[in-house]
Amino acid sequence: MIKVLGCSGAEFPKHFPPGFLVDGRILFDAGTLNNVLDERDQLKIKDIFITHAHMDHIREIPFLADNIIIGGWKRKVNIFSISPVIKDIKNNLLNSKLWPDMTVLPDTHHAVLSLNTLKAEQPHRIGDYIVTPFKVNHSVPAVGYLVEDQKKRRFFYTGDTGPTDATWRKLGKRQIHCLIIEVSFPNRMGEIALTTGHLTPRLLEKELSKIEAMPGQIYITHLKPQFYKTIKLELQKLGVGNLTLLEEGQIIRV
Ligand SMILES: [Zn+2]
Ligand SMILES: [Zn+2]
Repeated sequence: MIKVLGCSGAEFPKHFPPGFLVDGRILFDAGTLNNVLDERDQLKIKDIFITHAHMDHIREIPFLADNIIIGGWKRKVNIFSISPVIKDIKNNLLNSKLWPDMTVLPDTHHAVLSLNTLKAEQPHRIGDYIVTPFKVNHSVPAVGYLVEDQKKRRFFYTGDTGPTDATWRKLGKRQIHCLIIEVSFPNRMGEIALTTGHLTPRLLEKELSKIEAMPGQIYITHLKPQFYKTIKLELQKLGVGNLTLLEEGQIIRV
């Protein structure tokens, strides 16, 4: 079960940056967390997989760590991503300037955060799930995550991505039951989408045609709320039957 904490490409009232919570304990992207989960639910989060180091995907990590320490809770949260993303979090966020280095606090033996490097395309077991990062095409190093349960039900979360051939090629013939894919801009902003590594409805249509086995359900994330109505209309015109625009608070069953 995936709870959508946030699924927008900007922040406004009722629109929050990306955060997808699986079974209450594994979080994909940390753009939204502390403002929608109470302390008890925050403490259930054990593992956070980050797609890339843009602020709207990492910003809640420091606040979660702070809540755990200040609450006196003896908890550790594992942060996972590919090497350049982990380095950016360490060097540019938890750098003792923007925020204290929570990888050595409250003390080095009981640090609240543990940073863990994943290799692209290498599966990583987390509880009942196998999580595998696949590189996507964004303006900074970025991955999407393929998540497979014991019954071989799969979802793929793209994070932020522009058009890519390699990602879909590498996913190959695997049936994705649920695809969570970004569309940030309306069709008229195709140029901006391409230069910033994002998709429009028209670009999404091309991406879907590259996928070997059509996903069972397709969910759209990361819309810029300023263009919500236009993007919604343009997505409807694609005539893709199993496509849904995600909303904050929504529950997805894979
Ligand atoms: Zn981004
Ligand atoms: Zn983003």
